[in-house]
Amino acid sequence: MTEFDRRRLLAGLLATGAGVLAGPAAFAQDAAERRNLLDTMTFAVPPFQLGVAAGDPAADGFVIWTRLAPEPLQPHGGMVMAPVAVQWEVAHDAAFRTVAASGTAIAHPELAHSVHVELAGLQPDRPYWYRFRCGGERSLAGRAQTLPLAGAPKDRLRFVAAGCQHYEEGHYTAWRRIAEEPIDFVYHYGDYIYEGRDTGAATRLMNGRPFTPLRRHVGQEIYSLDDYRRRYALYKSDPDLQAAHAAAPWFVSFDDHEIDNNWADGLDQDGTAPEVFAFRRAAALQAWYEHMPVRRASMPAGGSVQMFRRASFGDLLDAHFLDTRQYRSALGNGGRNGPMNDDFLSPRRTMLGERQEQWLFAGLSQGTARWQLIAQQVMLMQLAVQPEGGGETTYSADQWSGYLHGRERLLGHIADRGLTNVVTVSGDAHRHFAGDVLRHGGEGPPLAAEFLATSVTSGSDGVGLDDAYHRSVAGNDCLKAIIDRRGYVLCDVGRDVFRGELKVLDQVMRPDGQLSTFATLVAERGRPGLQPA
Ligand code: FE
Ligand code: CA
Repeated sequence: MTEFDRRRLLAGLLATGAGVLAGPAAFAQDAAERRNLLDTMTFAVPPFQLGVAAGDPAADGFVIWTRLAPEPLQPHGGMVMAPVAVQWEVAHDAAFRTVAASGTAIAHPELAHSVHVELAGLQPDRPYWYRFRCGGERSLAGRAQTLPLAGAPKDRLRFVAAGCQHYEEGHYTAWRRIAEEPIDFVYHYGDYIYEGRDTGAATRLMNGRPFTPLRRHVGQEIYSLDDYRRRYALYKSDPDLQAAHAAAPWFVSFDDHEIDNNWADGLDQDGTAPEVFAFRRAAALQAWYEHMPVRRASMPAGGSVQMFRRASFGDLLDAHFLDTRQYRSALGNGGRNGPMNDDFLSPRRTMLGERQEQWLFAGLSQGTARWQLIAQQVMLMQLAVQPEGGGETTYSADQWSGYLHGRERLLGHIADRGLTNVVTVSGDAHRHFAGDVLRHGGEGPPLAAEFLATSVTSGSDGVGLDDAYHRSVAGNDCLKAIIDRRGYVLCDVGRDVFRGELKVLDQVMRPDGQLSTFATLVAERGRPGLQPA
């Protein structure tokens, strides 16, 4: 490469295209001459083993993502430890006949050779296709779409809520089926990876039944940055997951297992000193950023990530994506589910933190769209669990029932503002749950509807309706549907009706699980809660 070519390539780090700005596609200092950039690469194995992804769409663009990793499970993904130039292009058509924007970005070794290009200047409410090139290799194409302009008329929106994808516990058939759905976006509620060790090949008990891992984690419980990177690489090697990423833009969040089971703010579940846990949390959040199609605004800084954010889908729906992990108080009752106690009820304990709570309340108050969607990680319904054969009634310490004062503040805000168009989608509980959200104690009318999406794989095949836990929560009138199967929730939002289909697979331990709809429930605008479709 001549010096002229080299300068032209580096200048090309700023994107080209008709009126298109790529935003901070390249970091500011990347536009300057860099002595160590590898701009000619050859690969023995193609580097796009982890697929492509798009996320955080806005009316003028979205993020496109890939990571160079020819050998995903090897140190550094099999990459040479130097910055590498990657070409990208965005087109109006799947055949890339009409290119809307193109440019060059740098895959940094500091960021596991991930590439995040933040596009701007695209047209609203349009599909686009994108792909990457490096060292003579080309990625498969992904599809994304921009949002309608805020306030623009929009009659219909379809999206999926899904998450909890333990690698050892089943095939990602749900992601394959999601890739085939005609949807506008995916909301991932978290548990994208699980932090546990390889549990071995032996059959063990899971939920009281024999279970043999379908496939295995690599290595021990993950703590270091390289551990987390390798775990993401393992999960993202799955072709069904890659297909779902390539099919639609995602809004991703994270829950507990991206870091450690049931962590809260600076605390893990094991009683580790916060100043020690902080190293693990920072490593986990860096790896999360490296592997997710999120904006620069969500790049970790000081060991934290700005994850809560909003998106508007014309005049139809405002989505508030919450972070119920980074700012929450320590779990009550020592993290154990238990009877309602002073800990669960304490006004000093928070799920969202003051800043996020005020941001959410302001967004709900000011939202003018037909629907207000609260997309978050854990169950908002307050379920009393009455064990079969007697014993005391218990509540979850990890869900909103363990943060009752914050739950009451949120529901009080919805009631005080007279909002009758609030729906929450959530997850984490490894079953489908759909029902009405009522204030503590169940007094008064429903204030919102909840669709809690079951896991993609976690919990393996499940027991369907023959479920002791199901019987233990049957006394909760707010609960309209529950089933222990794997799947996802398909939401179909119209101007007056918000329809949720609880999609289930008959099995995930074999690759050919059959998809069906267990139940369909609707929320009618102006009438909070759920009705049968
Ligand atoms: Fe989970
Ligand atoms: Ca979880």
